[in-house]
Amino acid sequence: MTKSVISHQFGPFSVVSMGLPGDHEGKTATRVFFVRGSEKIALIDSGLYGGLGALKQAFSDLDIERRDLDYLLLTHEHMDHVGNNGWLKAETGATIMGHRNRADRVADNMLNAKTIVHAFPEGEHFDLNAEYLDWMGPTEGPIDTFIAEGDVIDLGGGIELEVVEMMGHSMAEVGYFERSTRTLVIADPLLPTFNPVLYLYEDPHVMRGTFDKIERFLKERDVQTVLLAHDDAKSAAETQELVKDCRMRVNKVEESMVHHLKENPGISFAILRDKCCDDQDKVHEWRALVSIDASLKDMASKGLVEKRGDGWHYTG
Ligand SMILES: [Zn+2]
Repeated sequence: MTKSVISHQFGPFSVVSMGLPGDHEGKTATRVFFVRGSEKIALIDSGLYGGLGALKQAFSDLDIERRDLDYLLLTHEHMDHVGNNGWLKAETGATIMGHRNRADRVADNMLNAKTIVHAFPEGEHFDLNAEYLDWMGPTEGPIDTFIAEGDVIDLGGGIELEVVEMMGHSMAEVGYFERSTRTLVIADPLLPTFNPVLYLYEDPHVMRGTFDKIERFLKERDVQTVLLAHDDAKSAAETQELVKDCRMRVNKVEESMVHHLKENPGISFAILRDKCCDDQDKVHEWRALVSIDASLKDMASKGLVEKRGDGWHYTG
């Protein structure tokens, strides 16, 4: 008898955990969530390809026939959340729903793997091939239906999932609020404190707006439980604390940047990025460049930094 891959059960939600929490080398466990109504069954995210075994086992542990899965609901396009889309589409025929902003990346695994680095002129060459194969597998599952803020997916029996846009970490990210149990599913806008990688955001201003939005949502909608993709489930009060911590970690990235820009006029992008990682005890990992690039752009637009030749200068 193998151990069940269902780590928790919250009302209509069954939580499937893939991998070990606090994993090293920049990887953290990913969770996906089955949601069962009286009429329909949904799965929120397909997880990383390395977790396919756990996903297969989840169907049998939950006694769900593959063909009975109606919807695959995506939170965002990142590799550890869409890695089994292709397998799920082929095996279940489920309708894949996600935000339209990154539909091109969801539809093309290699584009998805490469865009994150190649979109940044200052990104060094990273060989993503091994990692991408581990995370996304050989086939993709494109989005069939676009969803946006306020859309409701009715699973029957009073189980309704409301789409809540949460941009910043990805500019195509949504969460899902189950109205009857007041459960909010959030993937990566709130990253766990133990995350080994620098806080990952594509736009610092939008990210902070999402932190504010989550705080308001918790209060206004009297959220009872928050299910997180890379962390254990939390109460609303615990989530408030996590939001504060996330906001502080984003602030610290920018404080580090300003500090090192002032100390080292003409600092290169790569050295600035690595120094910021060191300040927060984070691994030197390719994804860190996304946040540094985003904040440099934001600071440059405010006239605080300037690039001369290959070096960055603080001009504020
Ligand atoms: Zn992500």
